[in-house]
Amino acid sequence: MPKINEIYYSIQGEGTRAGEPCIFVRFTYCNLRCTYCDTEYAFYEGQEMTNNEIIEEVKKFNCKLVEITGGEPLVQKDECLSLMKSLCDLGYEVMIETGGSISIADIDPRVKIIMDLKCPSSGMEKKNLYENLNHLKPTDELKFVIGNREDYDWSKKIIKENNLEQKCILLFSPVFDKIQPVEIVNWILQDNLKVRFQLQLHKYIWDPQTKGV
Ligand code: SF4
Repeated sequence: MPKINEIYYSIQGEGTRAGEPCIFVRFTYCNLRCTYCDTEYAFYEGQEMTNNEIIEEVKKFNCKLVEITGGEPLVQKDECLSLMKSLCDLGYEVMIETGGSISIADIDPRVKIIMDLKCPSSGMEKKNLYENLNHLKPTDELKFVIGNREDYDWSKKIIKENNLEQKCILLFSPVFDKIQPVEIVNWILQDNLKVRFQLQLHKYIWDPQTKGV
């Protein structure tokens, strides 16, 4: 049985579906410890739930878009894969947000993957599983959370080396409260990078510390 931190209904704050109502299923546990982590409460807290119990909670909301998130949901891999399959079979549009350190190879192709590559200032760069890049679909999203110029230059290098502009949707996001968004936007425009800049909408709609939004 998976350990689940929270299930809630809110607005998708990031990526190409930003602004849309979405149900979030947050799995407990994470194998990483990013310097800027804003969900440390998901490292250990939660309760064990069966797939059916999770699905019953999801059904309470009148919404067909579900995001599986964490923590790192793939720490509980078998449970996570099984839940995503059940949700897809029920006609839900399913997305998973993963930190990029655990294999995504066996994720159901119906699921949209939103994967991080951890930049140097996260402190987790060495945990990136680059083999995962081979499993991203054109509709999947690869996210770089950028805290300084070194992170930006690193991201640019990784994109060029791996020809990622042709592979999937690329997202550049600032570390909240660490770097001015305009700095990153100016760099993107100067370099004519084919990436999508984004802000975490939920941190502007609600207080940035608010949980469950
Ligand atoms: S992967 Fe996400 S949940 Fe895990 S430490 Fe990093 S920011 Fe926090």
